[in-house]
Amino acid sequence: MSDVIVLGAGMVGVSAALHLAMKGRSVVLVDRREPGEETSYGNTGIVEREGYIPVTIPKDPRALLRYALNQAPEANYHLSHLPKVAGWLMQLWSRSNTAGVEAYAADNELLCRHAVPEHRALAAAAGAERYFRQTGWIRLYRSPASFAGAAKLFELCDRYGVAYRVMDADGLAEIEPHLARIMHKAAIWPETDSVSWPAGVTKAYAARFQALGGRFVHGDARSLTRTADGWSVVAGGETVTAREVVVALGPWTGDILAPLGLKFPLIAKRGYHMHFGATGNAVLNHPIVDVEHGFCLTPMEKGIRLTTAVEFADRDAPPTPRQLEQLKPIARALFPLAEERDETPWLGRRPALPDSLPVIGRAPGVAGMWLDFGHGHLGFTQGPISGRLIAEAMTGQTPLVDLRPFRAERFFGG
Ligand SMILES: Cc1cc2nc3c(=O)[nH]c(=O)nc-3n(C[C@H](O)[C@H](O)[C@H](O)COP(=O)(O)OP(=O)(O)OC[C@H]3O[C@@H](n4cnc5c(N)ncnc54)[C@H](O)[C@@H]3O)c2cc1C
Repeated sequence: MSDVIVLGAGMVGVSAALHLAMKGRSVVLVDRREPGEETSYGNTGIVEREGYIPVTIPKDPRALLRYALNQAPEANYHLSHLPKVAGWLMQLWSRSNTAGVEAYAADNELLCRHAVPEHRALAAAAGAERYFRQTGWIRLYRSPASFAGAAKLFELCDRYGVAYRVMDADGLAEIEPHLARIMHKAAIWPETDSVSWPAGVTKAYAARFQALGGRFVHGDARSLTRTADGWSVVAGGETVTAREVVVALGPWTGDILAPLGLKFPLIAKRGYHMHFGATGNAVLNHPIVDVEHGFCLTPMEKGIRLTTAVEFADRDAPPTPRQLEQLKPIARALFPLAEERDETPWLGRRPALPDSLPVIGRAPGVAGMWLDFGHGHLGFTQGPISGRLIAEAMTGQTPLVDLRPFRAERFFGG
């Protein structure tokens, strides 16, 4: 019997498994695919230092009308899906105000201040430094109004001591000469890292886990069964047993927890990517975010990756990459993108809870089960620190940060 089964080999589960292995626990990591092949595969690869502003529902009536008409490239939806997420959206709405943002920022700072150093430590141990770039990333503001809308982010960065630098069009042109000169302002966050292949990083951490003696096996997490003294799962053609289990299945976490009576308000906020070549000698030096249109362009090993914002649709509904189509001409007018390098757009699913914070800690009322999921827009960033925290909690150490904001009980009146 092993000490721990970790279910899910995305960035979150791999990091938890690696930290447990580093503490000498015998760990079996289970996934139906190879490590890092789902949400942790196709994201923007940002390890964000300043994740203080959750994605909220705008109060501006014009923005709301664009959303209602499904015309905004930053938020697409399937009409049939909306009744299913109405309660979730109402909870998000109740937090879409200054007090909600302040509370989120204070809690998320607990994780964000450790995100970059924790990634760098794992990258050094795993020999994955080659993927990391310490260039920071840039937000682009097309208009005075959108720049004014960033005031809260700047205020929170000042409060928590996070560096940034605001640039005008000339300043931006100096560091990104191939962007069209159409921006009112830009700002760079130099303490944020990015990676050139998120799946490569996740796989490198999984390889390090295996080098430490951890076992990775293919299996279906839905075979999880309680035993007299722990848990079992059918994986790798055998029944694997362990005293404890960590559920880190990202957007699929509910498949395991709901049958146990733990019904979390977890939804899948879908997003797409496509890689492009660059025309002529054009180079993009940093990941960039077009704040108005809610998309990113980031240099990756395969080309320049365009990632979209949010699509509200059933987790398993067929892809509808409408946002990507809307964004292509906008992105091409910003940077001289050349040929498309993917046959079809990639679809990913952010595991999202309505307070925009993850669950890290014990499963309420289920002995021997731990939870590490719901990292939403920041799971690549926060996987390593979350893994460290859950491993510390499971091995009787005092976690590096206070885990109370991340307790599962907050969704069950606790
Ligand atoms: C377009 C886009 C851009 C993003 N950009 C960023 C970014 O720049 N920075 C950032 O921090 N975050 C970003 N994110 C969010 C980030 O990608 C996610 O929060 C993160 O990858 C979640 O990791 P995870 O390990 O929880 O889930 P996943 O990576 O999805 O891992 C879950 C694993 O569970 C496995 N699984 C599911 N069901 C079963 C089963 N029944 N049996 C066995 N295995 C199962 C899956 O195969 C998968 O490997 C982005 C997301 C999207 C969609």
